[in-house]
Amino acid sequence: MKVPISIKIEKRLLTILFSISGLLSIDLKSNKNKILCYHSISQKNDNFSISVKEFRKQILKLSKTKTISNINEVMSNKIVNNNRVVITFDDGFRDVFENVYPLFKTFDIQGCVFVVGENYLNSKAKKSDKLTLNQLKMLNKAGWDIGYHSYSHKDLTILSKKELEFEIAESKKELEKKLGFKINYFAYPFGGYSRKVVNVVEKSEYKAAFTVDGGSMGEANVFKMSRVCMSRHIKAGDLEFLLTDVGLCINSIVAKIVRLKDIMKSF
Ligand SMILES: [Zn+2]
Repeated sequence: MKVPISIKIEKRLLTILFSISGLLSIDLKSNKNKILCYHSISQKNDNFSISVKEFRKQILKLSKTKTISNINEVMSNKIVNNNRVVITFDDGFRDVFENVYPLFKTFDIQGCVFVVGENYLNSKAKKSDKLTLNQLKMLNKAGWDIGYHSYSHKDLTILSKKELEFEIAESKKELEKKLGFKINYFAYPFGGYSRKVVNVVEKSEYKAAFTVDGGSMGEANVFKMSRVCMSRHIKAGDLEFLLTDVGLCINSIVAKIVRLKDIMKSF
């Protein structure tokens, strides 16, 4: 398999900096809360799919060093530095129900899934690998959060205000009717946002919105909450350093490169 150059650079930088910090005994511990963004937990051959075995290792590692919380707990506490980690999943893959939900039950933890509206609102959408409406209801009952990831997963930064209102607000209301509960959180597709996009989200009855800018949970703007995008090349052994301030800074730079490449591919 061909590994993208940006991921190779991230791995190399992480290794070098981890070694230097060890040699110089720099204290890299950070208690700031972090939100991780996963996609598919399966054997699929792409950068954002992580195998069940590797994912289990990562959760085990995180559960030993941090408190795994759900979004509601972290957002309602407004405490940004009590060593918590929130686990989120973008795009609503069915393997989250099959592979993650049973695992999380054994740890007594919950995650958040950001789903794409057309999979539930458009009968012609290709959705065989996506969570069903029933599975979303079951996850919600078990304490998981169901967030929204726009109607059609386009780059929102190039859409008109009218298109944005449909992608972010109107279609969300339709999905809420089908689900029977409110959707409180939004994740920007490809992590892309602009002032215009954020304005529409703010006016659409969400409590918070999430980017993949990397870094710890900020306290400045709840509609630009940073998440760390997890790729298949980040292993359980990398987590300790990745979740320090320096590790997150590198991750944030790489996330921007990957986002640009993703947007180019979607045209
Ligand atoms: Zn997405």
